[in-house]
Amino acid sequence: MLEDKFGRRFHYLRLSITDVCNFRCDYCLPDGYACDSDRNFLSVSEIQTLVKGFAALGTSKVRITGGEPSLRKDLAEIIKNCANTPGIEHVAMTTNGYKLESNIQTWVDAGLDSLNVSIDSLDPRMFQSITGHDSLDSILTGIDKALALGVKVKVNVVLMKQYNAAEFSQFLNWVKSTPISLRFIELMQTGDNLTFFQENHVSGLPFKEQLLESGWSQLIRSKTAGPAQEFYHPDSEGRIGLIMPYSKDFCGTCNRLRVSAIGKLHLCLFAEQGLDIRASLQSADSIELQKQLSSLLSDKEATHWLQDGYTGGTKHLAMLGG
Ligand code: SAM
Ligand code: SF4
Repeated sequence: MLEDKFGRRFHYLRLSITDVCNFRCDYCLPDGYACDSDRNFLSVSEIQTLVKGFAALGTSKVRITGGEPSLRKDLAEIIKNCANTPGIEHVAMTTNGYKLESNIQTWVDAGLDSLNVSIDSLDPRMFQSITGHDSLDSILTGIDKALALGVKVKVNVVLMKQYNAAEFSQFLNWVKSTPISLRFIELMQTGDNLTFFQENHVSGLPFKEQLLESGWSQLIRSKTAGPAQEFYHPDSEGRIGLIMPYSKDFCGTCNRLRVSAIGKLHLCLFAEQGLDIRASLQSADSIELQKQLSSLLSDKEATHWLQDGYTGGTKHLAMLGG
């Protein structure tokens, strides 16, 4: 098992397969995707070597992310390869949902177990204003389809003061009759979004208080749980999660490592740089990869420095997948 010097164990790989995105979320790519970086993305066979190497070191869950992962034509093949790798028990994907309604069946047939879908507003006009796309209805239909197919669905909502903070109750109402886990994520500062961050960041703590005051109870975290604090309510089919990266001890439960679409290992979402592991992927050398991973992990730091405004080399989260 991959374990760092702070005793944290890493059983979860977040793999970006492209940094291209068709949306223009105000906090991420407000001017849309700029084709200014290396687009020589990992091939299916490189991904196979990567996942095999991680699985041999104890990784049991892979999340496919991006940019927008569904823009890759070979996505189903990638899902299938991950799902068929011995040791991988769970294949998840994070998507903006643009192709969800039309493609969910294909992804499930390929072996997808769960989905995170980003929906920052339940008001179609606000949704369009944030993302640049009038596709809320189709995404909601896609979620219903995914649920009917037995896929576990989480919905990510980035909290933004001037956009959706006032929609909190509307989201709670939706979850009442929809068996999803809806997670509010505190807006994070990145290299490119300082002004937007300063104007829109809100702490999740008042929302936590609001939940507790209105009959929601906090679930006890399992040992392998991620960073979300989760809440349930007896009258609600769905659950609520809060992801508060600016809160104390957030990094203590870190259980994930990230690999970018060009084959760089990122020890933290806000690391200064990615570490090159592509050569062992290109030569399909899973043993060399395992040696590299074990050795590189010794540089993982105890925490990010986001609270000090330090965002490392991360210009925006489409670079790495969040
Ligand atoms: N395009 C896909 C999507 O939007 O779901 C996957 C990639 S996106 C970078 C992954 C997640 O990161 C999304 O839920 C998105 O809302 C979130 N995200 C992006 N930028 C963020 C920021 N600055 N702060 C907090 N969350 C952010
Ligand atoms: Fe694209 Fe996701 Fe970034 Fe929105 S959050 S611009 S959908 S990568």
